[in-house]
Amino acid sequence: MSKPVKLSNASDYEAFLDKYDTFLIDCDGVIWLENIVIPNLREVLSLLRKKGKNLLFVSNNSEKSRKGFKKKFEKLNIEIYDGEIFGSAYASAYYLKNIVKFPSDKKVYVVGNVGITEELESEGIRFAGAAEDVKFDSTDWTFANIKQDPEVGAVLCGFDININYLKYAKAYTYLHSNPECLFLLTNDDPTFPAGGSIFPAGGTIAAPLITALGRNPDVVLGKPNKPMLDCIVQKLSLNPERTCMIGDRLSTDILFGINGNLGTLLVLTGVAEEKDILAENARIIPDYYISSLGDIAILNT
Ligand code: PLP
Ligand code: CA
Repeated sequence: MSKPVKLSNASDYEAFLDKYDTFLIDCDGVIWLENIVIPNLREVLSLLRKKGKNLLFVSNNSEKSRKGFKKKFEKLNIEIYDGEIFGSAYASAYYLKNIVKFPSDKKVYVVGNVGITEELESEGIRFAGAAEDVKFDSTDWTFANIKQDPEVGAVLCGFDININYLKYAKAYTYLHSNPECLFLLTNDDPTFPAGGSIFPAGGTIAAPLITALGRNPDVVLGKPNKPMLDCIVQKLSLNPERTCMIGDRLSTDILFGINGNLGTLLVLTGVAEEKDILAENARIIPDYYISSLGDIAILNT
C-alpha cells in the first residue's frame, strides 16, 4: 500500500491546494476542538476563499442543524455562508426528501434531538417523537400505552442525550409491526471526543434497536457511508477528482473520501495520530497528511 505524503512546507501546501477546487472539511478535530478554534484556522479558511475554493463543512454530529452549526461558527468568529454546512441531520432530511421522496402523508419517528427535527421541518417532512416521548409507564404493556401514530412510515435515529425506554419501545414497534417502515441512522460513529475524554456517539444509540430487530438499518447517513456523499454530489454537482476530504478520523472522514474517490488529507489535531497511518498494518491511508490545517496559514505571509 502506498505511503501518505506529508505536507510540511509552503511549496507542499501550494501544490496540494492547486490539485483541488472543492474542500469538504470535517468540523470537530479539524476546525475546532469543542469550543476552541484550532490555531490559524480562520486565516486558512480565508486563504482558501481568496483562492476561489469551494468549501463545505461536513460533520457527523447530528445534534446540530445547519442553523445550529451556523450559530457555532458565528460564536467562534469563523466566517460562514449559506449552503456551506452539511451535517448528518441535514443529510438525513435531504436524503428522505430528495432520494427516498418520503410521502407528505407520512411522518418520521425521531430518536434524537432538535438538530434533527429542525432539519426535517426545514425540508417540509412531518415527524413525531424526539422531545415528546419522555417516560414509559411500566404498569401498562399494551400497545395503547405506546400510543403508536399510524402515519409513521420511517424511524430516524441519531444522537439522543435523553434516550429512554419509551423511545426504544416506540421505534421498535413501528419497525417490527410494519415491514415497509424505513429504518435510518443519521450516523454510526461509535464514539466522539469531548472534555478530554471519549464518549458513546450516535451509533451507540441505535445499537439496542438493531439487537431487538435482529437487522441492520436500511440506510446510514454520515461519513464514511455513501448516502451522505450521494446527497452532497447531488446538491453540489461535485467533480470527485477535484475534491478533497479533510478530516481527523480515519474510519469516518478518510474512508469517506476513499469510498467516494476523492482526494484525502488527514490532520493530526484530532483523533488520528501519525503512527496510525505509518504502521505496517495500517488499513486506511490518506493521500496526504499535515500536523494541522492551520499550518497552511504561512502561505498568507
Ligand atoms: N457525534 C457527536 C454527538 C459529536 O458531538 C461529534 C463531535 O463533536 C461527532 C459525532 C463527530 O463530528 P465531526 O464529524 O464534526 O467530527
Ligand atoms: Ca472530526
